[in-house]
Amino acid sequence: MSWSDVIDQRRVVETLQRAIASRRVAHAYLFYGPDGAGKRAVALAFARTLQCEQGSDDACGACPACNKVSRLIHPDVHVLLPHPSDADPADIAERLQGLSAHPYAAIDFVRRPSLKDAAYTSNKQAFYAVGRINAELRQSMSFKPMEGRYKVVVMTDADLMRVEAANAFLKLLEEPGPQTVFILTTSRPDRLLPTILSRCQRLRFAPLPAERIEAALVERDGMAPGPAAALARMADGSYTRALDLTENETLMADRELVVELLRLSYSQRIDKLTALIEQIGRMGRERVKGILRLVLGWIRDLVLYRTMGAEAALVNVDQAEAVARFIRGVPHADLEAMIHLVEEALELVERNVHLNLTLTALSQALGRAMRGPHSGRLYVPLADLATADEHG
Ligand SMILES: [Zn+2]
Repeated sequence: MSWSDVIDQRRVVETLQRAIASRRVAHAYLFYGPDGAGKRAVALAFARTLQCEQGSDDACGACPACNKVSRLIHPDVHVLLPHPSDADPADIAERLQGLSAHPYAAIDFVRRPSLKDAAYTSNKQAFYAVGRINAELRQSMSFKPMEGRYKVVVMTDADLMRVEAANAFLKLLEEPGPQTVFILTTSRPDRLLPTILSRCQRLRFAPLPAERIEAALVERDGMAPGPAAALARMADGSYTRALDLTENETLMADRELVVELLRLSYSQRIDKLTALIEQIGRMGRERVKGILRLVLGWIRDLVLYRTMGAEAALVNVDQAEAVARFIRGVPHADLEAMIHLVEEALELVERNVHLNLTLTALSQALGRAMRGPHSGRLYVPLADLATADEHG
């Protein structure tokens, strides 16, 4: 967790280094920008530099203070995560350990309700309770730093303070304790109180370029270049999302299913197609949505390849040959219509329409659109719209 671990964000890093060098560290910072762009990584590198015993604009990485901040056990560095009211303290500790091991990892309750199961979803809301602000923060803020030069509080996803908590926090901001530095991170700054916003120095984080994410996946996470390039393009500027995708073993397998579904939709080999649709239908509604999004990505690659040829920046960059072969196989395909059809299928799946029925209608319509111009919509009988299937 030093500046060298931060990917890109040069402007933000230089601003913070200048603040340290000129001894004009602000009392409160707001790091805002999309998920996975490195807000937490920068916050931790900044905290470490602030506490480093060398006192320069870069942490030495060797002194006891650097060491403690890296392991998130420094008594003057508090990293807070919003959590559900019944969160297990052991779970919270494990998440902080995960953060110290990899500052870009998805360890928060919001995006990762269960550390063990990446696909697990939860209805429980993670938030900052007012009691926590008063008990944990107010107390510790009223004392001088115990061993560091500053008291640093990193409040991740700070927009998850409810009204009472936000007002309690505002009081802390208004009467700053000695040598206190607050770092708030958020991807939704519009949800913070204007009175909090106005008291922070605001630093914007841009989404990461795909090639930087790709390089990080190869250099830091040991991924092969081909899959790394594909994942980086699917990750939308978020290294964290790319890491999440690498953990998702089903993703690569699902990409194979997508190509198979399109091939069979074209050839209309009914027996095989029926079996494949049944197989996909059994995977449940959430995974089917994921597969349909992959179908969209594949068709968009076909569009790109048709217009730009080998120069196209494909999502499935490691499958460029397969994309080229595919587009040669369906020279008259109405790709625009295919995109609309898949989007319509996604909506139907959202609305709980029977999965197999939707997939069957989709494959028939895609088969027609791959042969030539297509203007129809997916046909799903009205009577079936109300029939939620038993797998979803
Ligand atoms: Zn140091």
